[in-house]
Amino acid sequence: MAAHIFSFMNTARNAELVTIGNELLSGKTTDTNSAWIASQLELTGLQVTRITSVGDSRGDIVAVLGEAGDRADVVIVTGGLGPTSDDITKPALCEFFNTRLVFREDIYNHIETLLAKKSCRINEHNRRQAEIPEMAGTLHNTEGTAPGLWFEKNGTIYISLPGVPFEMKELLVSQVIPLLSEKFSFKPAFYRTVITQGTFEAHLAELLEDFEKQMPSGITVAYLPSPGIIKLRIGGRGLNTLHLKEQVEKQLEHLREIIPQYIVGFDEETLEIVIGKLLTDRNESLAVAESCTGGAISSLITGVPGSSKYFKGGIVAYSNEIKKDQLAISPTLIETYGAVSKQVVEDMAINSRLLFNSTWSIAISGIAGPSGGTPEKPVGTTWIAVSCSKFTRSAEFRFGDNRLRNIRRASAAALNMLRMAITGQ
Ligand code: AMP
Ligand code: MG
Repeated sequence: MAAHIFSFMNTARNAELVTIGNELLSGKTTDTNSAWIASQLELTGLQVTRITSVGDSRGDIVAVLGEAGDRADVVIVTGGLGPTSDDITKPALCEFFNTRLVFREDIYNHIETLLAKKSCRINEHNRRQAEIPEMAGTLHNTEGTAPGLWFEKNGTIYISLPGVPFEMKELLVSQVIPLLSEKFSFKPAFYRTVITQGTFEAHLAELLEDFEKQMPSGITVAYLPSPGIIKLRIGGRGLNTLHLKEQVEKQLEHLREIIPQYIVGFDEETLEIVIGKLLTDRNESLAVAESCTGGAISSLITGVPGSSKYFKGGIVAYSNEIKKDQLAISPTLIETYGAVSKQVVEDMAINSRLLFNSTWSIAISGIAGPSGGTPEKPVGTTWIAVSCSKFTRSAEFRFGDNRLRNIRRASAAALNMLRMAITGQ
């Protein structure tokens, strides 16, 4: 099929994405399709220059297809190919390409087979999915009933994909990108991500001023902050992939020298993955005692496959009664220093380690907010302790006043404290 899809050869300059659906405009569905497609195209070397979302309105879709095609070499459309009456992408495509819907026996057979596997009866709506714009090429959808469609008009390639994310992803990776790569000569991108914890964006930028100045042209660094974690994305694009990779790896080496204390991982590694590897390698175990994070740390740890090898368990010791009764924290200690204190959190760590018979433990107690703060201990004050048989260490943090962000920041800080303790930092 690939051979006759594209009748002209070109160097792709740019792509535009068009996502279709009223649900995207009303905010009921977040347009994750365009973000995902953009990230895939960037790696391929095709730059996305504009993303447009449009409702299920034939006139609007036709207009957007024309505008996007005037600017871009490739237009990728998602959504509106479903079997229901609000899915009007196909009629809009027919109007735009001046073609008509024709029934395709092969597509109908595929739909029939797919539905039979799910023990679903085929109906008129499904039958309509086998009606395809006459001039369209089709991309076989192994995951669903609506095929992908491709068109050419005035030197632009249009690809229309189903809106269902997993169907769209499968079609894009297995068919669309290989076809586009055959057609165009791309400058592939190469990026690596450095994951940092324990500092602020402005502070990091200050530390990296000289680093940024010495970076070779074409290689850039992007700061991607989220609560508790700042990712540094380093890379660029070029025809010589080997050279590009070498340059990027060299920048990573520099960073390892400049900010070793803040680097917790690379690329898809999260703190909990890093900790999982450390504990597995050492055949050691972990327990947690959480107050203000309410189980968030346990949840992060158990989100990693294989965590049963090293995670013993945890206790959400939210109330003082539970801290006293289940973790044997002395009532006098709580009265004297308060539940959010070095003394209490260190005892929580030691006692949970003994209770769960683990190598390591993390304990955390803080004021997540928005209320509950005092002048001495404002909202965001959090004590975290890490304990093993040789030592127990603790630190005080002052996070902000947003409850959910505090929980995320506190969880990241606690996991990083554990990582540093395990690695002897
Ligand atoms: P459709 O192809 O328009 O029938 O879309 C089918 C389903 O895919 C919708 O109900 C949404 O849940 C999902 N969907 C459609 N477009 C998007 C998008 N741009 N981002 C994420 N999900 C989407
Ligand atoms: Mg829709």
